[in-house]
Amino acid sequence: MGGALRRPALSSFSRGMQTVTLIPGDGIGPEISAAVVKIFDAAKAPIRWEERDVMAIKGPGGRWMIPPDAKESMDRSKIGLKGPLKTPIAAGHPSMNLLLRKTFDLYANVRPCVSIEGYKTPYTDVDLVTIRENTEGEYSGIEHVIVDGVVQSIKLITENASRRIAEYAFEYARNNQRSSVTAVHKANIMRMSDGLFLRKCREVAEDYKDIKFTEMYLDTVCLNMVQDPTQFDILVMPNLYGDILSDLCAGLIGGLGVTPSGNIGANGLAIFESVHGTAPDIAGMDLANPTALLLSAVMMLRHMGLHEHASKIQTACFDTIKEKKVLTKDLGGSSKCSEFTAEICRRV
Ligand code: NAD
Repeated sequence: MGGALRRPALSSFSRGMQTVTLIPGDGIGPEISAAVVKIFDAAKAPIRWEERDVMAIKGPGGRWMIPPDAKESMDRSKIGLKGPLKTPIAAGHPSMNLLLRKTFDLYANVRPCVSIEGYKTPYTDVDLVTIRENTEGEYSGIEHVIVDGVVQSIKLITENASRRIAEYAFEYARNNQRSSVTAVHKANIMRMSDGLFLRKCREVAEDYKDIKFTEMYLDTVCLNMVQDPTQFDILVMPNLYGDILSDLCAGLIGGLGVTPSGNIGANGLAIFESVHGTAPDIAGMDLANPTALLLSAVMMLRHMGLHEHASKIQTACFDTIKEKKVLTKDLGGSSKCSEFTAEICRRV
C-alpha cells in the first residue's frame, strides 16, 4: 500500500511549505496519489507530503482504530488527502472511511458537482454542492436483533449535529459566493427526526438573511434534479439522503471518476478524497483516471487558502479534458494514467 509513491524532491519552493498527510489507500490509490504528487510538484504547490498507510487495527479493549502514526500525523497537519480504501463486506473491520470520520469527527461531507466543459454528459451546466451530515442519521451504527429474523437500525438525529451542519452549509454559501441553500428532508413521514433537522435548518437560516433558504422533500429533489439540475445551488441534508443524492449528482457531471469531495471537521481539520472506490479491476495497470483525487486536492488547496495554485491546477486539468487529445479510457480516450498526468503537468 502506497509503496510505489515517489515523494517530490524538495527544491527552492520548499520554503513556506505546509504539511499534508497523504493516505494513498488501496487498489488504484497509490497510482492516482502519485499522479497528484507529480502535478503538485510541476505546479510548485507549497505542500510537503507526509505519507501514511491506513488500515484497521485492534486497539485496547478490542476496539477498531486507525494506526497511531496516521492519527498523530493528521492531528499535527490537520489536513489529509486520501485515496480509496477497500472495505470488507458484512464482516471483518468496519469501513475505514467511517472510522476516519469518527476518529476526527468529520461532520460535513462536501461535494461540489460542476460540469466539465468538453466532457459529454447528460447535462452541461450543472453547478451545485451537496453538503451531507456525516456522523449520524441511519448511519449511526446502532443496530440490534430484536428477535430472530427481526433487526432494528436506529436513525439518530440530534439538535447539535443538525445545527452544526446547517451552519456549515450557510457559512459555505457565504464564503463561496453562493446564493441559496435547500434543506432536503422527509419530515412529512419522519416527523420527529427529520422534523428536528428541518427546524434547526430554519433557525440557522434566520441568521443568514443574505442567503435564500428553501426546503424540499427528498423525492421532489430527485424528480427536479433529473429534470433541471440548474435550479439547485447548495443542498444540505441528513446522512443517508446525502450518500445517495451526492452519487446521483455525480452522475449528472460524468460519474465518480471526476467527482471530488471533502470531509470537514471542527477547527479546520479536513480530509479530502476521491469518492470512487479502489477499482480492483484496473489496479496496477496504469489505467486509472486521477481527476477525482486531483480535484479533491484542488478543494484542499482552496481550504488552505492557496487559491492561485488551486486555479492553476484546475485549469490545466479541465483544459486537458476539453482538448480531448490525452484522455484515460473512462473519459473516452486511450491514454494511460501516466500520459494524462504528464499532459496536465505540461500545462500547469
Ligand atoms: P469502484 O469505484 O472501485 O469501481 C467501480 C467501477 O468504476 C470499476 O469498473 C472501476 O474500474 C471504475 N473506476 C472507479 N474509479 C475509477 C478511476 N479513478 N478511473 C477509472 N475507472 C475507475 O467501486 P467498487 O468496485 O464497488 O468498490 C471497490 C472497493 O472500493 C470496495 O472495497 C469498496 O468498499 C471500496 N470503496 C471505497 C471508497 C472510498 O474509500 N471512498 C468508496 C467506494 C468504494
